[in-house]
Order: sequence, then C-alpha cells, then structure tokens
Amino acid sequence: MMSHSTEEHSTKPKTFRDRVESLAHTKSMDCYQCGKCSAGCPVAERMDVMPNRLVQMVQQNDEEAAISNGAIWLCLSCQTCTERCPKEVDPAGMIDALRQFALKANKVPASRQRILAFQQAFLASVRKHGRLAEFELTLDFKARGYFATPMDLPFLMENALLAPKMITRGKLHFLPHGVKDTALVKRIFERCQPGETLE
Ligand code: SF4
Ligand code: SF4
Repeated sequence: MMSHSTEEHSTKPKTFRDRVESLAHTKSMDCYQCGKCSAGCPVAERMDVMPNRLVQMVQQNDEEAAISNGAIWLCLSCQTCTERCPKEVDPAGMIDALRQFALKANKVPASRQRILAFQQAFLASVRKHGRLAEFELTLDFKARGYFATPMDLPFLMENALLAPKMITRGKLHFLPHGVKDTALVKRIFERCQPGETLE
C-alpha cells in the first residue's frame, strides 16, 4: 500500500519551476547568482532581463515575469552561459523552455513576433527538407513576419538587394537541396513531445 507521504508527493501539483526544470533537465535551485552566465552572454547588453535574473525568476516561480519578457527571444542558444556556469546549471536550456511556455501561453511580445516567425520558418524548412532551403525559408519568413506584426510593407522588401550578391556567392539557392533520408528527419520531429516545439 502506498504510504501517505508518497501519495501526497505523487498528487502534488507541479510548480512552474518543476515544469521548467523538467523540460530543461536542470536544477535552478543550484544557481547561487554569481552572474557568470550574464557576464559571458554575447547579447546580454541588448537584454532587458539578464540570464542570471531569468534563472532567478524560475527559482522564485515567477512565471509571468519569466515568460512575458522580450529577453528570452534574443537568446542565441549559443550555450556560453551553460558552459561557464560553475554550478552546472543550464540557463540556455531553461531559456529554451521559457520560450516554449511563452508560446503556449501566447505571451510572445509584439516586438519579438518576427524572431518567432523566423524560428518557425527555419524549423518548417528543416522538417520538410532536412536542411535549410534558403529561398523557400526567406519567402516563408517574410509571409509569417508580415502577418505576425502590424502589416509592414517595407519589411517585405527589406534586404532584397542582398539577394543578387548572395546568389552569385552561392549562399542563396532557388531550389531546395534536401537530405536523402527525410524519413529520419520526420522521426526526429515526431520524437519531440507534442506541443513542446516552436512550430
Ligand atoms: S553562472 Fe550558473 S550559478 Fe552563476 S548566476 Fe548563472 S546560472 Fe547561476
Ligand atoms: S545561450 Fe542565450 S543566454 Fe546563454 S550566453 Fe548564449 S545568448 Fe546568452
């Protein structure tokens, strides 16, 4: 028979911190706020909330602040913070989890909708071809970005003049060059838990 304390443990609702830690496979409470993650972050100066503060928001179960800020969408997932952490906390993984919770809760700030549009177009391209199809990705990003924010005609043509240079340097291909084993790519995407990807 299950002991009373085990029963209590199994029915205890998961806190926001539990959910982030479970998705990111890390322990926020190991963080002692040394700030090394923020000191090494290449985009920290553009962030309104520093990476160590994001970890602290998770520690404090402050879901609203952790998922509705714009900083999590500036993170490049470069892993520098995770590499530098002396306590083996994974701020990069946590930020990735925060983005997924923000998306589910419809908390992506208007100013970050184009970043989201790019990430979605990127994933859609990889899912379909196994690698990036540059021209298709560009069209998809422009379409998603245009409708995601107040319709902005100049955005559609932004950077269009770079296209000829990129084509001559072999950086922009009109036709996709997919991988052979697209079934493997499909299986990888299917292994992602439903509702926990950005697509
Ligand atoms: S480097 Fe690690 S311990 Fe230091 S503040 Fe960042 S997450 Fe916390
Ligand atoms: S993974 Fe994100 S938060 Fe961490 S150092 Fe890179 S950009 Fe900064």
